[in-house]
Amino acid sequence: MTSEAERKMRFLFALRSKGVSDSRVLSAMERIDRGLFVKGIFAARAYEDMPLPIACGQTISQPSIVGRMTQALDVQPRHKVLEVGTGSGYQAAVLSLLARRVYTVDRHRRLVREANELFSRLGLANITAITADGSFGLPEQAPFDRIIVTAAAEDPPGPLLAQLRPGGIMVLPVGQSDTVQTLIKATRTEDGIEYEELGPVRFVPLVEGLGQE
Ligand code: SAH
Repeated sequence: MTSEAERKMRFLFALRSKGVSDSRVLSAMERIDRGLFVKGIFAARAYEDMPLPIACGQTISQPSIVGRMTQALDVQPRHKVLEVGTGSGYQAAVLSLLARRVYTVDRHRRLVREANELFSRLGLANITAITADGSFGLPEQAPFDRIIVTAAAEDPPGPLLAQLRPGGIMVLPVGQSDTVQTLIKATRTEDGIEYEELGPVRFVPLVEGLGQE
């Protein structure tokens, strides 16, 4: 077996062994090469199940967390999805293979520019990355069928809950410090919002305002 095939097999095995079982999610993650989203000295570790540093002091999430969050989001082919926290663009690229349209926002202009360049290089024409403070969502494109937040807030931001379509799902890490956070699935029902806890996680914080560059 070539080392690339072997690397891919190990990557998928790690995802499965950490609870990613949805075949659509696994095949999207098989198709998007994480190695393209990690630069410099860390690129060699892109296929290991660990978060890695990216530009602007941020991190690309651990693949098994990307898989578990994507699976919990239950994205369908007609869905319009919002991601808060573009980072490297990896999570958005995975979502773009499952959804009709993906909007992703980040407070760092540079990350948005680099992610958009990568999306066009890969021919992922249904994603748009936008520089914005994602705590306010993206009112001009709301409502969304699905919202995923990849930075931790103390509480689910109200504007994001408000931009969720009835029946919509939002997956986000919630917690007060950067050591104790819980992954939450929020579903908008006729009677309000239902919450389900999906386990402990660790994300960079959701920060107000745009990045200073
Ligand atoms: N999903 C990314 C990883 C995200 S890291 C990936 O696949 O690589 C978290 C990101 O959230 C960082 O890039 C950070 O700049 C961004 N972020 C933090 N607070 C934000 C806010 N208020 N609005 C938009 N983006 C924010």
